[in-house]
Amino acid sequence: MTDQASTPTFDAEALRAKYREERDKRLRSEGNAQYVGVTGEFAHFLEDPYVSPVVREPRHDAVDVLVIGGGFAALLTGARLREAGFEDIRFVEKGGDFGGTWYWNRYPGAACDTEAYIYLPLLEETGYVPSEKYAKAPEILAHSRRIAEHYDLYRDALFQTQITELRWHEQDEHWIVSTDRGDRFSARFVCMANGPLNRPKLPGVPGIETFRGHRFHTSRWDYDYTGGNSYGNLHKLSDKRVGIIGTGATAVQCVPHVGATAGHLYVFQRTPSSIDVRANRPTDPEWVSTLEPGWQRRRMENFSTLTGGGYAEEDLVMDGWTEIIGKLLRGRGLANQDMAGVMRTLELADFEKMEQIRARAQAIVDDPDTAEALKPYYRQFCKRPCFHDEYLQTYNRPNVSLVHTDGKGIERITERGIVANGVEYELDCIIFASGFEVGTPLEQRAGYEVYGENGLALSAKWKEGVSTLYGMQTAGFPNCFIIALSQVGGSANIPHVLDVQSRHIADIMTHARAIQSKRFDCTPEGEAAWVQQVVDASVMSVQFLEACTPGYYNNEGQPNGPMIRRNGAYAPGIMAFSRVVEAWRAEGSYTGVKFD
Ligand code: NDP
Repeated sequence: MTDQASTPTFDAEALRAKYREERDKRLRSEGNAQYVGVTGEFAHFLEDPYVSPVVREPRHDAVDVLVIGGGFAALLTGARLREAGFEDIRFVEKGGDFGGTWYWNRYPGAACDTEAYIYLPLLEETGYVPSEKYAKAPEILAHSRRIAEHYDLYRDALFQTQITELRWHEQDEHWIVSTDRGDRFSARFVCMANGPLNRPKLPGVPGIETFRGHRFHTSRWDYDYTGGNSYGNLHKLSDKRVGIIGTGATAVQCVPHVGATAGHLYVFQRTPSSIDVRANRPTDPEWVSTLEPGWQRRRMENFSTLTGGGYAEEDLVMDGWTEIIGKLLRGRGLANQDMAGVMRTLELADFEKMEQIRARAQAIVDDPDTAEALKPYYRQFCKRPCFHDEYLQTYNRPNVSLVHTDGKGIERITERGIVANGVEYELDCIIFASGFEVGTPLEQRAGYEVYGENGLALSAKWKEGVSTLYGMQTAGFPNCFIIALSQVGGSANIPHVLDVQSRHIADIMTHARAIQSKRFDCTPEGEAAWVQQVVDASVMSVQFLEACTPGYYNNEGQPNGPMIRRNGAYAPGIMAFSRVVEAWRAEGSYTGVKFD
């Protein structure tokens, strides 16, 4: 079938019915409550396996800027603030170093899924070009450190430290910051870059606490137990029966390595992922020699334009993401159709793409039942698309079994192993590839509460949903920026979103300094107007998510509450969002922000 095929080779009505049936199997009334957080008896799942605890004296001083976090959002914010001349910046990060998600996620096979040349931030600024199209985790972690060194961000970084409270002090016009290390210091400005997927979650199945064997979450990989490293060679698993729970983007990357060495691997699947071609390759030095200043930003914008459904003469990245969107959107005359026509055309294009994904599973996996079980029956962007050239092949190994639970999930965990489909699988080790908290209360995910003017808690203010100006400021919380994904334009390349946010923050901070403002806050009117724009733009995306199989993209199958429209992204995407905030800054009156 070609891109512009007019006669589909599938029965669209039958596929619609199949998608509905598969979704309905998976809908659970408890939604997010099906998971347990890593607190209480599960708190040890959070322990840092990469560093030994450091002892230090508590800080009782004052800083100009506090940046919370050490991942790409924090690094970009720190970098842009340094470029703007801010010197007194303190980072507080719970990990033992910079890196954020790449500090924690060192599981075997971890690598970026969007092209490294656009995914790794600040390449031109740091003079670095990744070694391959999809860089592996150690290279990405090293680049995080490179950014921190380049911008001198280690200077006042407090690692292994968890913020416990932020409290605005009205008289002194600064924030009082408390941490689990007994620190209590003040900061005039705060940038919260906590990360969207930072708290591991576990399936809340009966008996989870009873397992007597070894167990860990993928974001705290236990190499002492498995042997090997992020590149694989998990030699200590050769006599072990291992169970992996989950088949999301993380499992897709680590399953081939566990399958390569484990005595036996059982993969417990509830919903299969969509697995497209990866085609990784080393960086071509000749291509590097052609790069001209500004290349990274142009490439990022080209990718986000194309994957956001926009037009660009050239596809610079040419990967699975731009190919998917190309298949879905281009050459279908969308501009000449009414909304119903556009929706119909997009749906047909999606069917085509997913038929291709299902055919790939069929062609690669030898056992017909296993191949069938690995076919995803939902629309491409209901879950995160995955790209891998060894994942499906792993199921052809004699020591690897797929335990397909057909939407039900595992039933329970016992002292000896996992029960699924009424069968107990005896295991030496359980690896939880069960994902991260999304949609749970902010203060739970962040681990601290923020008290703004008049002692108002951010969680109380946002009880009915997120409320911001451009996703980054919220009225009543002066001198405070939030770097998160709600109410900002989205992209398949998150660092592009973070880059836009970091420039915006640095601009407001620079303006405040120029006019000697000690306190700035967004106005309730400015905030309300932006929230309305976000909500108005979200109608189509909510309709789409309602028809989707459950997952964290659609609040575990419950996307229709008022919250999701407010808490979601600004639907027109990062390119449209950039145009909005750039025009706002260029206009110069900073409407909606009050500087005192
Ligand atoms: P996900 O939330 O995507 O996956 C969790 C998995 O656990 C799902 O397959 C889920 O099934 C399964 N699961 C949950 N409960 C049960 C149960 N009771 N029984 C059986 N299975 C269960 O987490 P990931 O860590 O895989 O990925 C999270 C995100 O992190 C990705 O979406 C992506 O954004 C990011 N990521 C990025 C990578 C990259 O850039 N290279 C790599 C890895 C992750 P079900 O689908 O039915 O809910």
